[in-house]
Amino acid sequence: MSLYSNVSDETVDQIALILGGEEGVMIIDAIRSVNEITVEEIAEQTEIQINEVRKILYRFYNHSLVTSRRFRDKDTGWFIFQWRLQQELIEAFITGMKGKILRKLKTRLRHELDHEFYRCGSGECPRITFEEAMDMVFNCPVCGEPLKPVDNEVYIDFLEGKIEEIEGELEA
Ligand SMILES: [Zn+2]
Repeated sequence: MSLYSNVSDETVDQIALILGGEEGVMIIDAIRSVNEITVEEIAEQTEIQINEVRKILYRFYNHSLVTSRRFRDKDTGWFIFQWRLQQELIEAFITGMKGKILRKLKTRLRHELDHEFYRCGSGECPRITFEEAMDMVFNCPVCGEPLKPVDNEVYIDFLEGKIEEIEGELEA
């Protein structure tokens, strides 16, 4: 059971995997199990080197996945950091990722709408734009076979559907 209602454990784990690999997921699991935890405690639980734990935690911190609270140890006088997951910021991270994907999809769609495409039909050869095809006198730049126009309507439909889907999620 997640402490956080809006973001599933799976989603947080996925982000942790992207940012910190398998060790990142182990660190997130350790934090999740206790809510607040020190670097030393994480290292002990996960058996990951302290320096590595610290490195991954700062990467998480830079991407707003975790936050820390600092206090002074009464006995040693040293500062101790307690780390925890940051729900609102995780949501912000996800929203930011979706925004980035959305911008890429829109650029892609613009490119598809603005160009005519040609290809020879061989699976190995790339699709090229009308302008590039002109330069090649409508012969494939890879195999030399004649180029034929490509219908990109299905791809445009796919991109438009994907954009609509993500925009819907961002508005929710
Ligand atoms: Zn070809």
